[in-house]
Amino acid sequence: MQTAMLQLWLCAALLFPALAQAGDIRDLRVWRSPDYTRVVIDVDSRVEYSVFVLENPHRVVIDVADSRMFADVARVDLADSPVRSVRSAARNQSDTRIVLDMDNPVNPSSFSLPPNAEFGDRLVVDLYDLGTEPPAQPAEITPSSPAERQTAVASSQRNIVIAIDAGHGGDDPGAIGYDGRIREKDVALAISRAVYERLRNIPGYEPVMIRQGDYYVRLQQRPQLARQNRADIFLSIHADSFSTSRAEGVTVYALSQTIAEDENIRRVAEKENSADLLGGVSGDTSLKNFEDDLALTLLDLSMAWSIEQSVAAGSYILNALGTVAKLRRDEPQQGNLWVLRSPDIPSLLIETGYLSNPTEARRLNSGDYQRRLADAIVQGVMNYFYERPPEGTLVAWQKSNNQGPDRHYVVQRGDSLSLIAQRHNVNMAQLRAANKLSGDIVQLGQTLTIPGGGPAPLAAAPPVVSEHTISRGETLSGIAEQYRVSLSRLREANDLRNDTIRIGQVLLIPAL
Ligand SMILES: [Zn+2]
Repeated sequence: MQTAMLQLWLCAALLFPALAQAGDIRDLRVWRSPDYTRVVIDVDSRVEYSVFVLENPHRVVIDVADSRMFADVARVDLADSPVRSVRSAARNQSDTRIVLDMDNPVNPSSFSLPPNAEFGDRLVVDLYDLGTEPPAQPAEITPSSPAERQTAVASSQRNIVIAIDAGHGGDDPGAIGYDGRIREKDVALAISRAVYERLRNIPGYEPVMIRQGDYYVRLQQRPQLARQNRADIFLSIHADSFSTSRAEGVTVYALSQTIAEDENIRRVAEKENSADLLGGVSGDTSLKNFEDDLALTLLDLSMAWSIEQSVAAGSYILNALGTVAKLRRDEPQQGNLWVLRSPDIPSLLIETGYLSNPTEARRLNSGDYQRRLADAIVQGVMNYFYERPPEGTLVAWQKSNNQGPDRHYVVQRGDSLSLIAQRHNVNMAQLRAANKLSGDIVQLGQTLTIPGGGPAPLAAAPPVVSEHTISRGETLSGIAEQYRVSLSRLREANDLRNDTIRIGQVLLIPAL
């Protein structure tokens, strides 16, 4: 009878003899990714363990030395995973055996993780679907100049591809909110999905989601997925947190080729890069593959091009975000962020705000604000690509043919002529001329003609005007009435699935 197919003994105790002690098991979590299943086991200390597979039926066995089981493995959420059930039993008096009953054969890869801000010691077992392999080495990146990239794309009037990367995911929650509940990974995914939904309906653009659900994608794999999809830009969406609740506002980061001096940039780089440890890999994602000088020079040139484009795109995105959010810095900051290291794709990391700030965290957690942020990001991206369209794209064709009819825009609260010009990517003189204006004064409700030729503007979402804290005896319909908003808009602004509210809950009240 064929039994052990693969046997891995990781003798951590040999390396850290002082730490070898009872590693009681506190929890076990399962996360499904498109190509593998991650099993994370919380242990009290670094443990000695072994992992092997058994066939007929398919099982994965994890033996943890010097440990007792304190997790309720029968109740682990296995939804969408090929793990059918989890069992455990004491073994050899002092050890614990965990058995995963599998639907399909898998190829396991495992590693230990040291404690971080959110979790203690962990043992991670990645179960790769057969046919997919764990990434042993960073995949090779072939540098190419922008011109080479453009000629490589055959079709004319192709779409501009936007890679949207929701930060973190799965067992890596990213920053945790002031309330201990709002998580960066969820906020990032929601905003990313809103960006995707918006772009999907705009001719000339094709969005691609790098992470589509609640699972972890290795940092080095994120730009690789963007490259496989021939992305024209890579946007990594995040939310920050800080030790004080006062920190607030959006910051946009591009890569720097030098070591960042600024303390905050160093802090953000450390925070976002450390997610990589969770993927079991660390270090440089690309440069070590290039050995000869010529390749390195090409790579440097390409990287310099990519960074310059990133900073330019970041400025457009910040301009647009400034109409809906507070900006912490109104110019892109540059830092040594691994996920942005694409020599051929302009790449930005957007910290959308601070989850440590209660007001900002509640906004970031609301569907209404997420959509408004997403709209602004999309508007900024469109303004950038209209200014610098890649050759052979529909947007380049539209621009060179001065396409796009005149459009109309109704002046909203908070608008100014310069803001409207900026948002529609026309200059002030054109806008004045098209509307026969002698000055810059516009009236609320006034309809302006926007001269054709710019990128299509997005309809401005109404601003969130206020917050309301629920007191005893109030109902959702009563609050809707009080603020003269419809019940459905109130539900939507707060992502409520029903009309249940609780005392002390803070609702965002959308504008009329
Ligand atoms: Zn992050």
